[in-house]
Amino acid sequence: MRFTHPTLIDQWNVDRALEVGGQKSERVGYVKRTASDKVRFTHPTHQLFSHGPCIMFQVTREIRFCYGHRLLNYEGKCRHLHGHNGRAVITLETPTLDELGMVVDFSAIKRTVSAWIDANLDHRMILHKDDPVLPTLKAQSEPVLVLDVNPTAENIAKLIFDHVRAQGFPVVEVKLWETDDSFASYRRTE
Ligand SMILES: [Zn+2]
Repeated sequence: MRFTHPTLIDQWNVDRALEVGGQKSERVGYVKRTASDKVRFTHPTHQLFSHGPCIMFQVTREIRFCYGHRLLNYEGKCRHLHGHNGRAVITLETPTLDELGMVVDFSAIKRTVSAWIDANLDHRMILHKDDPVLPTLKAQSEPVLVLDVNPTAENIAKLIFDHVRAQGFPVVEVKLWETDDSFASYRRTE
């Protein structure tokens, strides 16, 4: 193996990539850490592997909850108050594993994120702050969550993503299945 950029070498990832990808003779190259700390293979010629594989581990946890919403300035059926049995699918990613061989313990995701979803999203009406029904629901002490944006599946996915990230989890994507057929996702890659 020939390393052409010793200051950027990450030997562990070289070894790991060889284990995963095999074909040692085709993996001659070096590993560099980009500014975003992603690990990429690059062939010394900058031709064969300039868009090579990125070695990452992922875990995904699904959390189910019920919510209501409606969309403002929308002409379809979703302009009316209605509800969904939603599924948040949360994906975490790291280039290396912890001492237990995990990205993150599934139970840690459940403990932290499920509790927050139970307290803030489950069995609530999620509404835009300008929704005229808000005063009525609040007067009835109905549980609501007020957003600055339309409570679309996309925006709810982002809301969950931002919370998971704020808790320190290496989240890369949250999908929100609004129905059995449709999901929205919010993704962020460094
Ligand atoms: Zn809906």
